[in-house]
Amino acid sequence: MISKEDAELLKQLSAEEGLKFISSKISEGVVFSTSLGQEDQVITDMIFKNHLPVKVFTLDTGRLFYEHYELLSQNNSRYKTKTEVYFPESSDVEKYVNEKGINAFYHSIENRKECCFIRKVKPLNRALENAKVWITGLRSEQSENRENMPVIEWDEDRKLFKYNPLIHWNYQNVLDYLKENKVQELSLHKKGFISVGCQPCTRAIEEGENPRAGRWWWESSQKECGLHSH
Ligand code: SF4
Repeated sequence: MISKEDAELLKQLSAEEGLKFISSKISEGVVFSTSLGQEDQVITDMIFKNHLPVKVFTLDTGRLFYEHYELLSQNNSRYKTKTEVYFPESSDVEKYVNEKGINAFYHSIENRKECCFIRKVKPLNRALENAKVWITGLRSEQSENRENMPVIEWDEDRKLFKYNPLIHWNYQNVLDYLKENKVQELSLHKKGFISVGCQPCTRAIEEGENPRAGRWWWESSQKECGLHSH
């Protein structure tokens, strides 16, 4: 398990060193959820190029952009490995769509949260079963509720450690890593999409706007989908 000393050490290590440390310390049960965004591409590159024993998975909500599938396929070719894909329960999606409507998430926050729960949270919970450490690509400057997140923390609800190796990186650090390591990324980023989620719930942002302003833009809520409740 992760001791206090390990947690202190992780604060000193670089992201890549930390990933190596944690996956050598815990041989089974280290998992990484990628949304295929820029931060997640950085971590994916660090894991796969170092052949770390980490399960890498993504959630296919059924409402992603074509570009997500393109990048997933490119990743699989480049690293000669497969990112596992988790889908929602078909019965949940059928019930929601047939009772509420195909785009019901626009009609109320409650509907939106229910859609995220069915298409993201439930599959995530399944993917995290038996996980001991969950690696994320969260950065503190992404939103106010991530500002005080530590590098590593115990998630009491999920009974696992959550490790955020890029938590203190700024956006330029991410761009520099991608460029220096020639890591492929979503072609949408060049069209003004920075934080990219499902296609119907993401829009491009204007210069100077918060990157998460393009997510659920019709809401004034906290711009979170329940994956990283804090
Ligand atoms: S982001 Fe939108 S389409 Fe995707 S799961 Fe949430 S509400 Fe549904």
